Amino acid sequence: MDMHPTDLIAPSKTLEVDALAKKLISEGKDVVNLTAGEPDFPTPRPIVEKAVEALEKGYTKYTDSNGLPALREAISKYLKAKKSIEFSADEIVVSNGGKQSLFNAFASILDSGDEVILFAPLWVSYPAQIILSRGQPVIVKTKFENGFMPTKDELLIAVRENTKAIVVNSPNNPSGGIYDYDTLKMIAQIANERGIFVITDEVYDDLVYEGTHKSMYGLVREELLIYINAFSKSHSMTGWRVGYAATKNKDVKKKMSKIQSHVASNINTIAQYAAIAACETDNTYMVEEFKKRRKFIIEKAREYGLDFLEPKGAFYLFFKVGDNDEEFCKRLLAEKLVAAVPGSAFEMPGFVRISFANSLNILEEGMSRIKEFMDSHA
Ligand code: GLU
Repeated sequence: MDMHPTDLIAPSKTLEVDALAKKLISEGKDVVNLTAGEPDFPTPRPIVEKAVEALEKGYTKYTDSNGLPALREAISKYLKAKKSIEFSADEIVVSNGGKQSLFNAFASILDSGDEVILFAPLWVSYPAQIILSRGQPVIVKTKFENGFMPTKDELLIAVRENTKAIVVNSPNNPSGGIYDYDTLKMIAQIANERGIFVITDEVYDDLVYEGTHKSMYGLVREELLIYINAFSKSHSMTGWRVGYAATKNKDVKKKMSKIQSHVASNINTIAQYAAIAACETDNTYMVEEFKKRRKFIIEKAREYGLDFLEPKGAFYLFFKVGDNDEEFCKRLLAEKLVAAVPGSAFEMPGFVRISFANSLNILEEGMSRIKEFMDSHA
């Protein structure tokens, strides 16, 4: 008998380790939590004020399940003005964070047995969501030496008759790498030639510290592109849960809308009003602060002799720890009360991810405990 898809997936590891760290903190333990990628800044004032205004005006009812037309218009303008990406309000479906947009996309395009190519290291929820949509993740393990970017040969070996989609996540979680333009063009060319969907998860596109981020938008044939973004990381709105998928493929858009309407109706109405303000809220001060933290973390990691690639975007440091990353994280937490995510969660054992979306004080404390930990096991 076939297993049920839920028997084949584990709970989200990033959320699990974050919950464990938070539980220990609530019990009074002095844990330095470097797990989940969650900016520590308060959500910017204009966004909060817009939410308060919505509450006071009584905007507390259902909305269009695709999202308020005013929000989709605002996102459309924001994408065009800030990123030169053009989707009309009708081509956008707002969902409960980028996470649900990804699920809506997978569930819309996958039939039983369809394969989706993922590049490891990869974000934990992609394989689980593909399996839940009765698809099959096909994992291409990229190399540290190649900056964790796939080569053409590596991708071509994975492309088969059943390949339905390729997921691209740049800037990348967990590596912090940004795919170079040639790599993006190579992926787009293969997808375009073979009629494979590209789901591009660009939630970290604002958080770039070195080089430039290029979108898959404009490279992939428009009927094959599903674009995902969210306000969680860019505007410190993780708990508000506002993400969106956009596509010019009318059939896929219609399917994503149907799923959204049956699974969740609209997302929280107040959060939608808040997100309208986010489209007009400057976030460069956060990026500037992340730059300082990145500089600090890179300097420390170098000083400690860690083996890592300098993160160019997002807010993670992904470093080598030898064979047993799970054991490393368990002991680091037990002995030094520092919580980090093992690379195995991202299909890249032998590495550990720490988030630098934390204050410099916390990072200082976390890094010095990591150093003590490594010294005691040298
Ligand atoms: N995306 C963040 C992370 O990778 C938040 C947790 C999650 O949703 O996985 O840490």
